[in-house]
Amino acid sequence: MQFMKGNIMVFEETGKRLTSEEREIPALRSGEVLIKNLYTTICGSDLHTFAGLRKEKTPTVLGHEIVGRIVAIDKNHPGIDMAGNTLAIGDLVTWAIFCSAPQENWLSKGMPQKSEDLFKYGHAQITTEDVFHGGLSEYCMLKEHTCILKVPDDLPLPIAATINCALATVAGAIRLAGPLEGKNILITGLGLLGNIAAAMSKVAGAKEIIAVDVITDRLEGSRAFGAGFAYSSLEEANLREILANHKIDIVFDMSGSPDAIELGIESLGIGGIAVWAGAVFKTRKIGIDAEQVIRKLITIKGLHNYNFGDLQYALNFIAEQHQHFPFSTVVSKEFPLEEAQEAFEYAMQHRPLRVGIKLNP
Ligand SMILES: [Zn+2]
Repeated sequence: MQFMKGNIMVFEETGKRLTSEEREIPALRSGEVLIKNLYTTICGSDLHTFAGLRKEKTPTVLGHEIVGRIVAIDKNHPGIDMAGNTLAIGDLVTWAIFCSAPQENWLSKGMPQKSEDLFKYGHAQITTEDVFHGGLSEYCMLKEHTCILKVPDDLPLPIAATINCALATVAGAIRLAGPLEGKNILITGLGLLGNIAAAMSKVAGAKEIIAVDVITDRLEGSRAFGAGFAYSSLEEANLREILANHKIDIVFDMSGSPDAIELGIESLGIGGIAVWAGAVFKTRKIGIDAEQVIRKLITIKGLHNYNFGDLQYALNFIAEQHQHFPFSTVVSKEFPLEEAQEAFEYAMQHRPLRVGIKLNP
């Protein structure tokens, strides 16, 4: 074990090229699991870090939407995943992007993502002993108490990679929204999260699914993910009126745009629920008419990351539904690990739903 080596792509600062380094893989510590990463998709927050819109402690290994196979399991690991399945060498797995001590307070409150001393894969600093913790790496060492789930072998890797961030986050948003059957849903921001929200809403029995974005191409794409109506917020002059006629019950904001968030709140009908998951970067403060929120009995909920139930929901959803929606088109271009720099540049320039890093062929 201690003689194995693996390549990582190191991010140091915005504007500086990612550099390839070969590092020795340390022996597993108590309860750890070693993963050979097979596929990583570059998430919006990776792009934010790359572009300098958010700060991580560097040097770091970016990439947290990862899927891989188990290479080794420490003898102190319980040997089962969160669903109780036995784990073995060679199993395809996904895992929560964060982990914490099992006695953590926030765990029992259903908000494990807010635990003290949280460790986040793809967001951690490289230290002498701790190197393999991101997706731009051939291996990932899963820390003790990481929530792992076995992934069906027939799920295509580029789709499986998105389970532990995009899919699980939207699963959390769907949970917060409550039952969707017969409801009219507005989704603002049709990146990957918005499209997943459309697909999950459709499967959950929503009545009307309405997509709003500034990018026309994205709106077109959203129809195949279940949106029955798609409106451009730049081109539709009477958008507020149109949305009022749709009698929106629930709005998911996946854009983080203050304009879109305000539009969503104004569009809600009586008893409406707004779930915000997009604004994970600094934006201007939004303006809300408090009187309208009160008179219309509106609820606003924020979501950051997800809990373990959401991760399970995401896995179940995609295992059952990936062929019913165009999830196979989500990754528009693939790069090998050594070309991670080019992958980020491509993603920044073309803004596809995802670019993929194919590892360990
Ligand atoms: Zn992410």
